[in-house]
Amino acid sequence: MSGNRRGRQKLETCASCGRAVPRGKAVEYSSRTHFTTDLKEDNVTYTGFVDQYYCISCAKHRKIFEKKKQQAQRLKEKREAYG
Ligand SMILES: [Zn+2]
Repeated sequence: MSGNRRGRQKLETCASCGRAVPRGKAVEYSSRTHFTTDLKEDNVTYTGFVDQYYCISCAKHRKIFEKKKQQAQRLKEKREAYG
């Protein structure tokens, strides 16, 4: 009965190692995915963003933090460009 008083956080499974990580600690990372259904006649391609969660060690290993930094920089640049 100590520490986290925000109630139970939803657990996310790490997309890399399958470890259960609470939302607050998991690193969210959205990646573009392609789904292709190569049936005989219909060629349907779905593209979408899928939110994946990684535990901290996997995020570090995959350099997601750096990517997030780059994204933040890009956003900053955009904001500066538009005023
Ligand atoms: Zn992991």
